[in-house]
Amino acid sequence: MPIDVQKDDLQTALKKLKVREGNFQQLEKISNFGSWEVDLITKKSIWSENSYRIYGYEPFSIEPTLDTFFLHILPQDAHRAKLAIQKAIQSHKVETFQGQLHSKSGKIKDILINAQALYNKDGMAIKFIGITQDITKVMQLQRKSKELSNIIENSANEIYIVDWETNQYLYANQTACDALGYTKEELLSLNIFDINKELTPQRVEELKQSYTQTNIPYITKQTIHIRKDATSYHVQSNIQKTYYNSQKAYVIFDNDVTQNIMVSKLVEKQSKLLQHRANHDELTNLANRAQFQEQLTTAISVAKKEGSSFALLFLDLDHFKDINDSLGHDIGDRVLQEFSKKLGKCIRAQDTIARLGGDEFTVILHNISKRSDIAMVADKIIDAMKIPVKIASNMLHITTSIGISIYPEHAQNKAGLLKFADTAMYKAKDQGRNNYQFYSEGMTAHAYKRVIMENSLRIAIKEEQFSVYYQPQINIFNNQLAGMEALVRWQHPTLGMVSPIDFIPLAEDLGLIVEIDRIVMKQAMQQFSTWSKHGLYPGKLSLNLAMQQLQQNDFISNLFNTMKECDFQKSWLELEVTETQVMNNPMHSIKKLQEISDNGISISIDDFGTGYSSLAYLKKLPLSKLKIDKSFIDDIPNDEDGMSIIRAIIALAKSLNLGLIAEGVETEVQKDFLLQNSCECVQGYIYSKPLPSQEMTTFLETF
Ligand code: C2E
Ligand code: CA
Ligand code: CA
Repeated sequence: MPIDVQKDDLQTALKKLKVREGNFQQLEKISNFGSWEVDLITKKSIWSENSYRIYGYEPFSIEPTLDTFFLHILPQDAHRAKLAIQKAIQSHKVETFQGQLHSKSGKIKDILINAQALYNKDGMAIKFIGITQDITKVMQLQRKSKELSNIIENSANEIYIVDWETNQYLYANQTACDALGYTKEELLSLNIFDINKELTPQRVEELKQSYTQTNIPYITKQTIHIRKDATSYHVQSNIQKTYYNSQKAYVIFDNDVTQNIMVSKLVEKQSKLLQHRANHDELTNLANRAQFQEQLTTAISVAKKEGSSFALLFLDLDHFKDINDSLGHDIGDRVLQEFSKKLGKCIRAQDTIARLGGDEFTVILHNISKRSDIAMVADKIIDAMKIPVKIASNMLHITTSIGISIYPEHAQNKAGLLKFADTAMYKAKDQGRNNYQFYSEGMTAHAYKRVIMENSLRIAIKEEQFSVYYQPQINIFNNQLAGMEALVRWQHPTLGMVSPIDFIPLAEDLGLIVEIDRIVMKQAMQQFSTWSKHGLYPGKLSLNLAMQQLQQNDFISNLFNTMKECDFQKSWLELEVTETQVMNNPMHSIKKLQEISDNGISISIDDFGTGYSSLAYLKKLPLSKLKIDKSFIDDIPNDEDGMSIIRAIIALAKSLNLGLIAEGVETEVQKDFLLQNSCECVQGYIYSKPLPSQEMTTFLETF
């Protein structure tokens, strides 16, 4: 309540005054200022309670004077303070002084003083009153923001703040001005379109919208900046929403990436080219086998996720070999190109074509809902091929046979889908070519396997898709390695590893076994020679040889040539011939084998016990070893009959002075039985499965 001069008695007036003084002190504390007065005659000062606190003193703990002020003000500010006092006295106005003091504890504080002189009636200044405000916090903030703006000004990035509505520059840092060659004033009179020539208002609106909708913290994009001198450079922009002077704006951080761009997209161009080459067939520019494998993997995973179906078409040109042979490779190549062009026109944009090699193509028809859709495409392909193509004055009818497998109906994996499409394709060939066939279950087993194999076997021989595995043969009397059997493996490009059981009989029928055995022989001999050169004693090499091979006129000369070529000694060699093959034409076999044996090469009879050897013939054959067939070993220990046969074979071998080896030995029981019955050698999983050469090297090193 204010003091009422009329009504209030002295006591009441004093009370009211005290209350007001209390409030005033509270106010000083809240707003961090202290009031004071200095008697300019006596130099003595009166400070409010908070004035003491600003200087770091307990209220009234010292007797303040004008000098107390000068004692605390920082020396560099003292002169300005004196001038300010003089000015205040002369000007008759409120004067302001800002400086720093150190408090009693040494803490530096920022202060702002507003002061005024009071005069006597003669006009002489007698008092000086004022308030001191502690502005340390404000000044700290101000300094911090100054430091930050310094950093921003000189940052490596060009920084712009742009009005959200008008796209006019509100701020640009020094780096930006330097980069663009404008002064700050010039730049602030421009908008973003003036320096980003490829930006349009529409594009900016889109960007703003996408930014607002997606909630992403910032947008990144690349643009081209045009300098004042019309030259340009590439920048990577980071754009973020902000407020500037309480105005909606966006801030752009730009990075000059001209160098990176020159080097990177180059690198990209090159790597794109390389990648294209790695994934594409040079002749047709279609995806190649490697890319096809990826396409198929993707198709499976997409279909799996979506629960959809797709079809794999396997296409093989009809009679392409004839075209190639009669008209030459150049025409052949053109045929493949024409074919792939026509094929491309028959499918939808989302479907994929690949050339696996030769005249084999695949098509993946994605997202198929019914068979008739697949049939429609297949019909379209067959139809498209009806029109003959003219290649270098030849009118050629190119037709194709198509096999189709469906995911997931026929198979859910790559190998299965390919195998089935391939099988169906052979069915189409079998049906007179120039047609398509869907895979059906009955197809796999026998009928088409042969056709499939025949074709791929020929390719396999040409491309030497065979490798040799080795299975150790152990002498169980002394636990030494006696030798190893070479077993052929066929790494089919789409079917994977094909078992010899599946292709050797066919290869024999087709007469291709001769070639295969020669490939195996050479690889194995080379490997043996390498091992022995490295001091790894591999023992004897057992080679499986088809009778057909032995019957070749040049067999012996070829054998010796290969041995010589590989630096392989004949004493290291043993040939395995099956009992059945030998006994098919015993007289002839005896003659042939004798010739081989005369040349110092030992021979063993494979699968012994399965054929019907007569003792009379056996005696005449120049043999060194009998190999007891696995089927008898399987009988140990449960089948007494089988075990008796083994005992009989062992007795026979001993009587004929032949060596013995048991194949397919898997268990200790079997091995013990053979040991007790004096069969000296054992081959089987009990020691090792057939191993590729590298693993066999490790085996030799550690056995
Ligand atoms: P094989 O000459 O009777 O060869 C032994 C077969 O039994 C091999 O099968 C071998 O992997 C397998 N085997 C070995 N130990 C065990 C065992 O403990 N348990 C079981 N379950 N199997 C065992 P593979 O390699 O599949 O060869 C199959 C047949 O193919 C061979 O029977 C041979 O007749 C023929 N073959 C393999 N390589 C060649 C070759 O280079 N030329 C010729 N002409 N025929 C070959
Ligand atoms: Ca064998
Ligand atoms: Ca065998």
